[in-house]
Amino acid sequence: MNILVLGSGGREHTFTYKIAQSEQCEKLYVAPGNAGTSEIAENIPLSVTDFEAVKQTVLEKDIHMVVVGPEDPLVEGIYDFFQQDSALKNVKVIGPSKKGALLEGSKERAKEFMAMYNIPTAAYESFTVKSVEAGKKFLETLKAPYVLKADGLAAGKGVLILDNLEEAKQELENMLTNEKFGEASKTVVIEEFLDGIELSVFVLTDGKNYKILPTAKDYKRIGEGDTGLNTGGMGAISPVPFANEELMQKIEDRIVKPTINGLQQENIEYKGFVFIGLIKVEDNPYVIEYNVRMGDPETEVVLPRIKTDLVALLDKVAEGKLDEASLEIDERAATTVMTVSGGYPEAYEKGKEITGIENIKDSIVFHAGTKEENGKVVTNGGRVIAITSFGEDYNKALKKSYQNVEKLHFDKMYYRKDLGKDLN
Ligand code: AMP
Repeated sequence: MNILVLGSGGREHTFTYKIAQSEQCEKLYVAPGNAGTSEIAENIPLSVTDFEAVKQTVLEKDIHMVVVGPEDPLVEGIYDFFQQDSALKNVKVIGPSKKGALLEGSKERAKEFMAMYNIPTAAYESFTVKSVEAGKKFLETLKAPYVLKADGLAAGKGVLILDNLEEAKQELENMLTNEKFGEASKTVVIEEFLDGIELSVFVLTDGKNYKILPTAKDYKRIGEGDTGLNTGGMGAISPVPFANEELMQKIEDRIVKPTINGLQQENIEYKGFVFIGLIKVEDNPYVIEYNVRMGDPETEVVLPRIKTDLVALLDKVAEGKLDEASLEIDERAATTVMTVSGGYPEAYEKGKEITGIENIKDSIVFHAGTKEENGKVVTNGGRVIAITSFGEDYNKALKKSYQNVEKLHFDKMYYRKDLGKDLN
């Protein structure tokens, strides 16, 4: 099979790395890719939401399967675009249809879906510019902290958690009246705050059958001790140590099964990944959000633990025969530490030369924001390189990741040194 991976981050380098290992993969392309993907596949410069450009590449390169990394093309309907074009119909797109992608594209829709199928989640109500006052009254009925969520995609920034009622009312006003997050905050979901520990569960589905992939925990904040601004993710650990059999059974029975059942009830085509963000409150799991693709950097620890040929697995997904596939998971723990450009997630400089990659031993180097320039690898984004390692447990894996991170250099490189400390 000739395969095209869409995206350019650490997640997509990890997909590319796993797909390149498959005997079923003949030619492998990544669009637009980064300096890491170009070493094992051919990069093609195009925008992942430019479907006409994707189509042209698919036809030119005789692509049989397209693996979609980020959410934007999914929410914009890339799956349906392929289905509706007679020249592309037989190309296997790994991802949900537009209707399925709405589980991530609209928080209000996701909440309605959960309510419909009795999936445990925080109590909520949603508001628009016409109901700002009702929204403020609703806030008065809740206890602090207050959780406000922009309905649409807001590049991971659309959730505000506020301790003060007046501030929450002000922010609600900003979101609805002043469109703080643009179109995305035309509707705002206000929900009950859930106090617990977070974990992520990943599910691969063909819309009827499913396989639960390894769990992961990511580190969102820029600062140690989980302080400072939110980022795309500063590292991840898999499996989540507290996700024991009992909790996983509850997650499967109360969340995964009803989610897949809901997709079926509503005739939603969904051939891809469901990333379920969860909070464990006491001993019970609640859904915080659905994402309709893999997470980044969770992919960098989840996919390396999958021993089964990834292309064979994705092919079963595309064929609607995931029940025929087996899934073998590496028992070892995997960890990833993300190096970022100084200043990230606020302003930072690009184009810094990265050195020391060749000295990294016994870990996997996944490129995120990198590119090749005059034979050198330079920084090209906020998150730059993730170092993934295996170990008997996450502490041992982390030790390796940290030893190797120290061999890497670029001007103003930063990484969190406290991953896993909250779990010890
Ligand atoms: P989301 O984009 O929906 O994942 O929300 C971003 C982050 O906000 C989550 O990772 C949680 O840390 C936090 N969060 C979202 N909803 C809630 C909630 N109902 N209770 C507590 N924390 C929440």
